[in-house]
Amino acid sequence: MGQPVTPHSPGRLVAVQPLRHKRCAACRQGPLSLLVLEDGAPRCLDCADLGHLVFLPRGDTALTRRSREESALSVVVVRFNRRKSRYERQGVLVEEAALARAEERCLADAEARRRRRARDARRRGVADERFTAAFAAEILRLFPGCPAERARAIAAHASVRGSGRVGRSAAGRALSGTAVVSAVVAGVRHGDTPYDRLLMEGVPRQEARRRIVPAVEAVLRAWRGAGEGEDQGCGHGRPPGARTPLPH
Ligand SMILES: [Zn+2]
Repeated sequence: MGQPVTPHSPGRLVAVQPLRHKRCAACRQGPLSLLVLEDGAPRCLDCADLGHLVFLPRGDTALTRRSREESALSVVVVRFNRRKSRYERQGVLVEEAALARAEERCLADAEARRRRRARDARRRGVADERFTAAFAAEILRLFPGCPAERARAIAAHASVRGSGRVGRSAAGRALSGTAVVSAVVAGVRHGDTPYDRLLMEGVPRQEARRRIVPAVEAVLRAWRGAGEGEDQGCGHGRPPGARTPLPH
């Protein structure tokens, strides 16, 4: 096979998608969907000894690169763009076995990426556990009367990744007192007051919040004080009456 005369790609094997009907100069078959130019004359892929190659359209860069690496013979496929007056790349012709090997390598990459994502997620999980433990410790430092399992639950809830809750904010990560108190208040509001029930009953949020302020403050007082000898009767963290229905 002679080296085809190549449009705009000297030294490279190039096949052309012709714009007009062309026949093979050697075997006369046509019209040709793909041809190579040898000494200026069109030849079909069979006559150019390229008939065993398969067409891989452009678009998947990694698959294209690997197919060409795997293929002993590869041909760039171009088509002339009249408007831009230049040949444009449409894809490549490669050996079918090379394309199969390239596809396997890309799949292996996808699998490797999937495994790496899983590893990263596990690593993040460990980091989250450490963060949650530190958060819970800070809750217990500020609220020594808070039951340990409540502190862990509040910390875990506050530090759920990506939830936008207080624990994952910059302040929460820094375990600032404000962030810890906010998380505890939210936990108390939902866990130790009729707040959620009020919302379900259609009480406007601000009104519901207003109604539960005394209950929240009573719990916070009890949790704050228990380690310092105050409010001993409330050491378990739930003031009497916090669960009783409020008047509507
Ligand atoms: Zn031919």
